Amino acid sequence: QRTLLWFRRDLRLFDQAALYHALKDAREVVPVFIFDRDILDALPRHDRRVAFIHGSIKELQLALRQAGSDLVVRHASAPAAIVQLAREYGVDAVYTNHDYEPAATARDAMVSHALEQTGVIFRTFKDQVIFERDEILTQAGGMFSVFTPYKRAWHSKLDDFYLRSYPVQRYIGNLAHLPPQTLPALTQLGFTEDTLAGLPITPGMTGGEFLFEDFRQRINRYHEARDFPGVKGPSYLSVHLRFGTVSIRELATFAHAQGGIGAETWLSELIWREFYQQILWHRPEVAEHAFKPEYDALPFPNNQDWFAAWCEGRTGYPIVDAAMRQLNQTGYMHNRLRMITASFLVKDLLIDWRWGERYFAEKLIDFDLAANNGGWQWAASTGCDAQPYFRIFNPVTQSQKFDPQGKFIRRYCPELAALGDKDIHAPWLVRSPVFGQLGADYPPPLVDHAVQREQALALFKVARA
Ligand code: FAD
Repeated sequence: QRTLLWFRRDLRLFDQAALYHALKDAREVVPVFIFDRDILDALPRHDRRVAFIHGSIKELQLALRQAGSDLVVRHASAPAAIVQLAREYGVDAVYTNHDYEPAATARDAMVSHALEQTGVIFRTFKDQVIFERDEILTQAGGMFSVFTPYKRAWHSKLDDFYLRSYPVQRYIGNLAHLPPQTLPALTQLGFTEDTLAGLPITPGMTGGEFLFEDFRQRINRYHEARDFPGVKGPSYLSVHLRFGTVSIRELATFAHAQGGIGAETWLSELIWREFYQQILWHRPEVAEHAFKPEYDALPFPNNQDWFAAWCEGRTGYPIVDAAMRQLNQTGYMHNRLRMITASFLVKDLLIDWRWGERYFAEKLIDFDLAANNGGWQWAASTGCDAQPYFRIFNPVTQSQKFDPQGKFIRRYCPELAALGDKDIHAPWLVRSPVFGQLGADYPPPLVDHAVQREQALALFKVARA
């Protein structure tokens, strides 16, 4: 029996559910990866994610060669390519891991149907989360829409079974011996080569392992360091979790065994990730609509010029601008800053959260539909278990609290570097000649927070009425 193993957001050779089952069930396993034109053709040519995927695929292919096999790579529309490859290699089955995004679910239904017509079995497995879909439900059998009880239920269901890793090595000899396969260069795929140059991002399993190793040394301090963007507090593993170059079971097992408030806080973040994935699975319409229907059509004025200023990091609020420049320059943004910039866009600039969500989706190297949508709806107060609409972040006090010495601001807004620690958060209040060039090098604030706050409250009140 021969099986095709379709790699997607699980680009690793260890503790990989579909790979393990394929190797265990079949005599010969043919590993494949598709650069899916249905997704890639719409992306900007300098998209950093494609470079990350390409680097990870390169490493995966080398690892498969070392194991006596290879990786078959295609650049095509995925459903057609999979059906074609199944025929070409004469397989009985195609194995892959679950993807919970609505577009992926629809694609997989199509692939499954097409394969069925030719007598090929399509089997999928849970891999990227500890608990998926409806594995965690309320006592009444419904979906959890509040995080804390979900987390409690998650913990009480957890046991060794769910954390057990898949011993891929045990059956590795069942990988098919293949003639040498080629990997198209990024430019052949139509993308720019050097989008990761100069960034601290190493793709692939080695990149993930390196970051995890580094974070293990710091995990006990995570709870106190995680909120300060000028400090190396979080794990930076999000892009690796997104593309499966690390194993969620390995990370959760480590955090669980480590214990202590640092590791517990971090595990809680991994549970937030699963919380939003199950929300998206139960309520796929959140991808387009507010989770709370009464907030779906908030009458946002949507000022285009303000939106452009926000995107480009020139709102005149240093913490917001530094954050947006970090996103534009590196493809990453610190979690505290994602909350601040999202709140600022919706509650200060009165722009539809979906505009910001789309911009993040285009720029974030760790873009994940469930987490991004959940984060935006949280900040916009339109989501499940969201920030109440009347609690509005003040960008200046957030800045004073979480970047007290302006260390982060100075890194991304060098034109403000000469300002003192107290002045850097609200440069428009500085009257000294040190900052004489205000308006030349750095813009005055686009809006007055106190005024906009009132307008945001009024906007939400209209919707509630
Ligand atoms: P760590 O602090 O080390 O956390 C570990 C992991 O837990 C993360 O890698 C991530 O997988 C998960 N995680 C942490 N916080 C959250 C959260 N609030 N929701 C869901 N999962 C979480 N995360 C994404 O992975 N992709 C996104 O597209 C994304 N968009 C966001 C948009 C907004 C508006 C907000 C407020 C948050 C968003 N997040 C997103 C969540 C969070 O900001 C990032 O996961 C985190 O900053 C990534 O850095 P890290 O890996 O160093 O995180």
